[in-house]
Amino acid sequence: MIEVKNLSKTYGNHAALDGLSFTVEPGKIYGLLGPNGAGKSTTMNIMTGYIAPSGGSVTIDGYDILKDAKKAKAKIGYLPEMPPLYQDMTVAEYLNFVADLKGVKKSEKKNMVNQAMEKTQTDDVSNRLIKNLSKGYKQRVGIAQAIIGSPEMIILDEPTVGLDPLQITEIRELIRELGKTHTVILSSHILSEISEVCDHVFIISKGKLVLSEAVSNLALHIKASQQIEIEAKGDRALCESVLEELPAVETVSVEDKDEGKVLVHVTAKGNEDIRESVSLALSQNGIAIFGMKELGQSLEDLFLEMTQEDEEETMNKEEEE
Ligand code: ADP
Ligand code: MG
Repeated sequence: MIEVKNLSKTYGNHAALDGLSFTVEPGKIYGLLGPNGAGKSTTMNIMTGYIAPSGGSVTIDGYDILKDAKKAKAKIGYLPEMPPLYQDMTVAEYLNFVADLKGVKKSEKKNMVNQAMEKTQTDDVSNRLIKNLSKGYKQRVGIAQAIIGSPEMIILDEPTVGLDPLQITEIRELIRELGKTHTVILSSHILSEISEVCDHVFIISKGKLVLSEAVSNLALHIKASQQIEIEAKGDRALCESVLEELPAVETVSVEDKDEGKVLVHVTAKGNEDIRESVSLALSQNGIAIFGMKELGQSLEDLFLEMTQEDEEETMNKEEEE
């Protein structure tokens, strides 16, 4: 079990993490989801003892990552954003080197390196120089080094970034396999990746936890209120005023289309079904309806809504620079 408590990290006067807390239970695959700059790598670097927090604590099965660093670190394998691969070593040489660094016993070393290569399907390339491997294979070697030493928990920072679609599918499959024998935490800025691979998601935005939820429950957070889109023919201002008067309507927006048509978006207050009142009101005012459909909020909309400020702030910052 990993307990992250009230972590903060400031760079100069910028708070990269701001009171971040969550708990990781054994046996599940967790996703740390957030847009670029949300604080995912900072969190993982602190959880693995690479950098110290400005405040708060991380314990791994009760061992404090700073005070009991050796015992805590033995329980986690880490693939950082920039994997520390030695390009001029062969895969086997590098993994043996990692085993030495992690203090793996001589008698267990050969077996452990072989197992790590089997699990990550890098045994075929064991004698190739790392620099000559494809990006997908390099990432597999990065995962192999993380599982050497038999850690119970594996932490992977954006393991599919920069890979092509086939490599992404393969790495996701490998992560699912690892999840059968390890607790896994992976970070991503892509919601669909988390929802495909993980059991539980932590969404972070600007260094704060904005949602902790089982992936199977994510749909419950999608807004229940109805949104409809209508294609109609009639005067735009009339459409607007007619719909705005309806008591069950929350928002109305109307845009002009070709041939005197308009495209109308209406959201309901609460959970009311507004299709009937909207269509009657329009037709009673001489506005013909050509089509109507319900628009649901998607998971992607939910994620954007929860984390949008990040992106806006980043954009503003970039504009200022
Ligand atoms: P993510 O991995 O979610 O993209 P990071 O944890 O890398 O986010 O960064 C979080 C915030 O902290 C960003 O605003 C980033 O610019 C800032 N940051 C990260 N590392 C440093 C550093 N070494 N020095 C200054 N600012 C940093
Ligand atoms: Mg990162």
